[in-house]
Amino acid sequence: MSEHEAVAGEREQYQFQAEIQQVLHILIHSLYTHREIFLRELISNASDALSRVQFEMLTNQAVRDAEAELAITIEVDKDARVIRISDTGVGLTHDEMIKNLGTVAQSGAKAFLQQIKEGNPASGSEIIGQFGVGFYSVFMVADEVRVTSLSYLPEATAWRWTSHGEATYTLEAVEREQRGTTIEVVLKEDAAEFLDDWKIDQIVRQHSNFVAFPIYMGEGESQRTLNQRTAIWRKQPRDVSQEDYTSFYRQLTMNFDEPLRTIHLSTDVPVDLHAILFLPAKREQGMMRQIPDPGLKLYSRKVLIQERNEELLPKYLRFVQGVVDSEDLPLNVSRETVQSSGTMRQLAKVITGKVTKEIEALANDDADKFAGFWREFGPYFKEGIVTEPSTQSQIVPLLRFNSTHGEGLVKLSEYVERMQEGQNELFYVLGDNLEATRRSAHLDYFNERGIEVLLLHEPIDSFLMSALREFEGKKLRNVDDADLHDADAEAPEGALSPALIGQLGDRITAILGGEAISAVRASNRLRSNPVRLVSSGEAGGRDMDRIRRMLGQEYSVPTRIMELNPTHPIVHNLAAMLDDPEQSTLLQISIEQLYGAALLGEGLHPNPSELVGGIYALLGTATKQ
Ligand code: ADP
Repeated sequence: MSEHEAVAGEREQYQFQAEIQQVLHILIHSLYTHREIFLRELISNASDALSRVQFEMLTNQAVRDAEAELAITIEVDKDARVIRISDTGVGLTHDEMIKNLGTVAQSGAKAFLQQIKEGNPASGSEIIGQFGVGFYSVFMVADEVRVTSLSYLPEATAWRWTSHGEATYTLEAVEREQRGTTIEVVLKEDAAEFLDDWKIDQIVRQHSNFVAFPIYMGEGESQRTLNQRTAIWRKQPRDVSQEDYTSFYRQLTMNFDEPLRTIHLSTDVPVDLHAILFLPAKREQGMMRQIPDPGLKLYSRKVLIQERNEELLPKYLRFVQGVVDSEDLPLNVSRETVQSSGTMRQLAKVITGKVTKEIEALANDDADKFAGFWREFGPYFKEGIVTEPSTQSQIVPLLRFNSTHGEGLVKLSEYVERMQEGQNELFYVLGDNLEATRRSAHLDYFNERGIEVLLLHEPIDSFLMSALREFEGKKLRNVDDADLHDADAEAPEGALSPALIGQLGDRITAILGGEAISAVRASNRLRSNPVRLVSSGEAGGRDMDRIRRMLGQEYSVPTRIMELNPTHPIVHNLAAMLDDPEQSTLLQISIEQLYGAALLGEGLHPNPSELVGGIYALLGTATKQ
C-alpha cells in the first residue's frame, strides 16, 4: 500500500506547476471560441485510458474489474449544472493525479504558450489538444472540476482531485467501487448550453464519432449510444465518404485542416492490412505548429497496441499521419516483439511502397498541388537522401528545384531532356535565397549560352548535393567550380592587359590576405558582373563551408580564387588607380567592398552588416562636389 493510504477526510493541497498556471489563466480569460472542444479532449483522454487498460489485460492478468465493459458514459445534471464523463479505463492513482494533472511535460505547455503569444490567442482552443495539455481546456467552461478515479492496479485506492482552475488543487481519499475515472464538470453560468442533450450529441458526432469505445448518453432505459464507433479503416474504401475521411483526419490529428491526400489500404495478401494514411497539406498546423509527433497508430484486431509507431515508414515520411490495423500482428505481444517481427517488416514494405506511389501520383497528376506539397515537405525528402542513402532511388524522381529556365519547379529528368548538345553535366548554383541565386555572377556565362542552372536556396541543399553527386550517370556540378574556366580562350576586345591584371591581382592579395584569396585571374566567363569567387577545393569540402556557416559553427571565410572581368569598367578603373598614391585609400576600400559584395552574392559573408562602413566611405567620395 502506498504512503497515501485512504484516510477519510484527509485533504491535501497542491500548487499547479507554473506553466500550467499560465495555461489555465489563458484558458479561463482569453479563449471563448470553440469551447466545445473540451468535450473532445475529455473523451479522447477517456478513450486513451480505455485503450491502455485493454492493452494491460492482454499482457497482465492482475487488472481490477477485468469484466467491466470498456465504455464512456456521459450524464447531465441540469439542476446542479454538472456534466459527468465516466470511463472504465486505467484510472489514476494518487501519485498519477499529481504527476498527470498537476504537472506537464514542460515542452508541451511551453510550446502552447509560445503559440498563443505569437499567434492569435483566440484560436488557442483549436490547437490545445496537440500540446499534451488538452485536459485543462475543460476550464474554458468550468467553475470547478472534480476527477474521481480508481486505478486498475489491484492495490490502489480511490482519490478525488478537485480544482477551480486557480493556482491550486486538492486531493482527498474517497470511496469508489469501479475501476476508472469520472470527471465532473461544474459549468460556468455562461456555459449552460453544454447541458443540452442535443448539443452534446452534436459535439460528440462532430469530434468523437470514430472513438473505438461506445459513448453512452444518460442512464438506464433512456441510455443511447452517441458515436458511430466503426473502425472506418476496416470498411471498403467505396463505402467511406470524403467527409468521413476528413472528419476522421481531424479527430486523429486534433486540428481543423483538411488533408491533402488520403490513402486507404485494404488488403488480405501478402499480409492482412487495413490502413488509412494522410498526407497533411501543411507542415505548420494552425499557426507555427510543427507536425505532431511522428508515428502511426498501430492496431491489432481493433485493439490499439501502439500510439505512435515509427517503424512502418522511413524517417523522411514522418509527416504522414494515420492508422494501421493488421490481424497478422499477434495480440499478446510486448512492444519489443512488435518491432522485431517479420510481419512488421512486411507491413512497412507495403505501406512505404503505397505512400511513395501516392506521392508520385500526386506529382504526375497535379503539378501545382505537388509544388505546394513540395514547398512544405521538400526538405524532409532531401534530408532522407542525406541521412538514409538506401532511399535515394525512391526519392530522386520526386526532387524538384527552381531553375534558370522558367518560374516553376523542374525535375532532374526534365533538366536532362533539355540539356544542350555536348553538355554532360547538370549545373547548380547555391545561395542564401532564391533571389540571390538568380543574381549570381556565375550565371553570366550560362545565361548567355542558354544553359540551364538549378537554383538551390534551401539550407539543406548543399548537404543534398554532397550526398547525391550525380544523376543518371551525369555529374552534378557547382557553377563556382574553378575548373569551369576556358584557360586558352582568346582575350575579348577591350580587355585589361594580362600585365595589369597581374599587378592588380598582387594588390588585391596583399589587401585581402592569402587566407581569403589564393589567386587572382582574368575570367572569360563574366559578362555584366565585375568579379566572382571560384573554388578549386573538393566539392564536398566546399559545401562544408556553407554548412558550418549555416549551423552557426566557428566560421571563417573560406579561401577562394578571385576572377576579374577584364572588360568591366570597375576593373579598368581600379587598375588605373594602382600607381597613384593619393588614391591608395580609395583603392583599398573599393577592393574590400568588391570582395564583400562577391561574398554576399555567394551566401558566404560572415557578417553582411560589416559592409555598411565601406559603403558610406565610398558614398562620401562619390558625392563630393
Ligand atoms: P495528454 O492526454 O495529451 O497527455 P492531457 O492534459 O489531456 O494531456 O492529460 C494529461 C494526462 O492525464 C493524460 O496523459 C493521462 O495520463 C491523465 N488522464 C487524463 N484523463 C484521464 C482519464 N480519463 N483516465 C486516466 N488518465 C487520464
